[in-house]
Amino acid sequence: MRISIVGAGPAGIACGVLLKRYSIDVRIFEKGKIGGTIRNAWRVENFPPLGFISGESFVKQLEWYVEQYDIEVIYDEILKIEDFKLYGTNGTYSTDIVIVATGTKPRRIPEFEVSSRVLYEYFNLPRDIETVAVYGGGDVALDYAIHALEDGFVPTVFVRGNQLKAVSKLVEYAKERNIHIRLGDAIRRVEEQNGKVIVFSDSGSYVFDALLIAIGRELNMPEIDVSQMKVYTIGDCAHLDLRQSSIAIGDGVKCAMEILRELK
Ligand SMILES: Cc1cc2nc3c(=O)[nH]c(=O)nc-3n(C[C@H](O)[C@H](O)[C@H](O)COP(=O)(O)OP(=O)(O)OC[C@H]3O[C@@H](n4cnc5c(N)ncnc54)[C@H](O)[C@@H]3O)c2cc1C
Repeated sequence: MRISIVGAGPAGIACGVLLKRYSIDVRIFEKGKIGGTIRNAWRVENFPPLGFISGESFVKQLEWYVEQYDIEVIYDEILKIEDFKLYGTNGTYSTDIVIVATGTKPRRIPEFEVSSRVLYEYFNLPRDIETVAVYGGGDVALDYAIHALEDGFVPTVFVRGNQLKAVSKLVEYAKERNIHIRLGDAIRRVEEQNGKVIVFSDSGSYVFDALLIAIGRELNMPEIDVSQMKVYTIGDCAHLDLRQSSIAIGDGVKCAMEILRELK
């Protein structure tokens, strides 16, 4: 019995750990790095009993579990799931059971992608910058802005609407840190000039070293075409409206328990 998990974020790893505890042959496919989206987080404050912990430290814990349980990780992007087969960029893999834990991807604005300094994930932000524009008014945008400030950069947040939509704790932290937030100032156009990013917003044009776009996240799923096997879906890709690492981890554990019950 071979179980394949697609995605080594909190959901996939939690699922893999429990299956391994029952000596089940499980492997995880990962297209990037172990840890998933939480790697972006400035500080995770709602994961008791870990206390306040950075996204990077959270990921280190996940990596530790993968190592402790000797979970096989195959670095490949799974593009398509068919009955008992996974098609990746580097190969085709047989499987008996498949669990999809592929999380979310950022909502993009392709016309703003004028240079490699226009990004969506904080962990991709170059370190040789001083100033960064952040576009968005939700949790991720404010988390990115605080993260940037704490890393020694100068962030400016552009918000299309007249209100922030972030959790009040993050709004409070941003205000305490005097982060420059431009409400009702939508970005209309972006240009690249001499390695800089020129942002044209409703109020004027501004020069930054980078632009981080954080206007929401959407489902991230490989193509699934099955008729003879059940595909389990867990974590953020199972419920876009409940994007919390604790829920993703609980989901992973629950899925493993369901599979174990079925195998009995
Ligand atoms: C800036 C930011 C701050 C956050 N702060 C918090 C917080 O404070 N508290 C909290 O609880 N949550 C927070 N979250 C949310 C949290 O990160 C997610 O809820 C959690 O990571 C979801 O876990 P997941 O395993 O479902 O998906 P993900 O973490 O998205 O992991 C999915 C994994 O699948 C991989 N993958 C995707 N497609 C494929 C494919 N086709 N083939 C192979 N691999 C693939 C990805 O590379 C990724 O590693 C934050 C998110 C962001 C962006």
